[in-house]
Amino acid sequence: MRAAFDAILLWACLTAAEGGRGSRAKARCCCFVHRQSELRSRSCPEIRWLTQRQQGRRRDIAIVPDSETCLDGVEDSIKAATIRYGLRQNDKSTILLHDQTDRETIGVVTNLSRRLAGLARNNDCRRCWLQRKHCICDRCPPLGHIPSVRRLFLLTHHKEIGLIVDTAKLIMSSFPTTVRLVVSGIKHEFQPTLVEMTEVLKQSTSGNGRCLVLFPTDDALTFEEIVDDMQSSESPCKLDDEPWSVVVIDGTWSQARKMFSKYLANYSGGNLYRVQLSSNAVAGLDQNESSIDSGHQLRRHPIKWREISTLEATRLLLKDMHPGGEFDREADMMAQYQEIGNAAARRQLGPPREK
Ligand SMILES: [Zn+2]
Repeated sequence: MRAAFDAILLWACLTAAEGGRGSRAKARCCCFVHRQSELRSRSCPEIRWLTQRQQGRRRDIAIVPDSETCLDGVEDSIKAATIRYGLRQNDKSTILLHDQTDRETIGVVTNLSRRLAGLARNNDCRRCWLQRKHCICDRCPPLGHIPSVRRLFLLTHHKEIGLIVDTAKLIMSSFPTTVRLVVSGIKHEFQPTLVEMTEVLKQSTSGNGRCLVLFPTDDALTFEEIVDDMQSSESPCKLDDEPWSVVVIDGTWSQARKMFSKYLANYSGGNLYRVQLSSNAVAGLDQNESSIDSGHQLRRHPIKWREISTLEATRLLLKDMHPGGEFDREADMMAQYQEIGNAAARRQLGPPREK
């Protein structure tokens, strides 16, 4: 349940001296709902104002109700499961009383509930999951739509939700109408996006619609190879104009392998393809490895190429899918978002601890 002031915090930048006239508001609204004029005139009844005083200056902070974020769906799932199982907050003691098939969902929603309560308690940003002073949302606005993709499912390990260093949240905020967040471990009955993803997987294996699963299995092809394969098959696919559905997995590599096995491995054939990045995309990664970010996540991995972030892998796949350059601008913006996100996460986390 969203608290009344689970909120996006807006620094209204009212720089006038206390009680002064002619305040200049330079606020930019993270949620893209409230206009500057609303902030300036304080005409919007939904906005609550707080006043702080620092060094003789008045700083007014506008707290507005959050617009939709990916967490709304997660909260709906938690709420539905909580009611269904009669769960109480922070109570895991009764988990063994439930059927074994329900225990994973109960464990996941209990953990998520605690984590989201922490975000709300700290008033962290619900979109970028950073502290308000490090929030990057005004620098990473939505990018519209992805030309040849109808739906992009982010199959996400529940431990990634709310994580400072997670990069997939920026995919969600970049393409909010295209991306569907699917949290691993929560049953179908509490998660409409999982139902939707499963339906897409089933349909595409039977030739209705088409779907790409980004995962480096032995049989994975590059996007170019998939297009060639479709065109050269005995019954070439007549879906040239049909947008793709795409499934991307978000988690550590061991988590990703488990999620692939559980949710995706059973689906293959028809118009469902396992896709890997093109050699050009991978070569670009190698070249950039010396630069500070270069699409790598902040978490280190003993195998270097496994450090590539979910955001970067998705970005490179989408570039592969638009060889005519229709996605170049958005791809460049996504690369910038990753740098902005990594820098903000570093600032929030501070320097690494000495061993
Ligand atoms: Zn933010």
